[in-house]
Amino acid sequence: MSATTRAERDVPTDLDKVLDEVVEIARPAAHEGQVAREIPGMEHVDPERFAMALTEFDGTEHAAGDVDEVFPIQSISKVFSLVLALQKAEAGSGVSEELWSRVGREPSGDPFNSLVQLEHEEGIPRNPMINAGALIVDDVLLDHCDDVKASTLGLLSKLAGEPVEVDERVVAGEEETSHRNRAMANLMADFGNLRHSVDDVIESYTHACAVMMTTRQLARATRFLANDGVDPGSGDRILSGALARRVAAIMLTCGTYDAAGEFAYSVGLPCKSGIAGAIIASAPERLGVCVWSPPLDPSGNSRAGRLALSELTDRVELTVF
Ligand code: GLN
Repeated sequence: MSATTRAERDVPTDLDKVLDEVVEIARPAAHEGQVAREIPGMEHVDPERFAMALTEFDGTEHAAGDVDEVFPIQSISKVFSLVLALQKAEAGSGVSEELWSRVGREPSGDPFNSLVQLEHEEGIPRNPMINAGALIVDDVLLDHCDDVKASTLGLLSKLAGEPVEVDERVVAGEEETSHRNRAMANLMADFGNLRHSVDDVIESYTHACAVMMTTRQLARATRFLANDGVDPGSGDRILSGALARRVAAIMLTCGTYDAAGEFAYSVGLPCKSGIAGAIIASAPERLGVCVWSPPLDPSGNSRAGRLALSELTDRVELTVF
């Protein structure tokens, strides 16, 4: 057992060197995973693609691999949709009470697109990081944002430090294949937990999933969560410190679905994954992190991405524990 304390390990680290080591170890794990080819935009993606970016608050970027290649952010958008809803909640108007009476804050222990709990729990999704919960967040946003799509793109562009866009082909493809998400929305509507039409909610949700970003942009965009709610790029407050911590708590407990316990154990950072193979992670007071490798494990999280994050936190004192 090493006798080093947290304080001793917290010395300035050569993050570029660490990143090289991590990438070398993690990359081969992609070979055991499966790319979600059913996702529009992912039909032809090369499973060998790999990127990792660690971004400091002063803008220093430690980057490896295909960090400037775009992919659909998919479920990573669920974090930013929740942030938009919490911004509305901070502005008052009862959004907080409304939101948290319609979606929970407990891990589901089920896959991201499971319908099983929704029936038992009367149309109240377990949390906003699974599909059903994100549909409720979108339903709330439709009431409180003039233009949800513009607000989502505005927030992500601001945090990325440059404009980001939606790929309409991904939207069209997902809308055609969204039978399961529509089933969830219909079930929630039947339980009286949907205010807008299923079509409008699905459209809004699908647009958020189809925002195209790079690994470099997502690492930048995650920093405000590690910085008490203030975006280090612009200096603007995105959320209060108290709410930024709560978003991070929901990511830690729910952001990687039924692998959240394993991520807490092996990575120790609030993370959110998407089915295109990206994972964002917030390292408090230090870094925004993103890793991208398309092949997934059975829980729908990037296989090499998870290994890369655990190798990173084995080497640098970053975890929340
Ligand atoms: N668009 C995907 C869906 O709705 C997002 C899922 C994910 O990234 N885990 O199923």
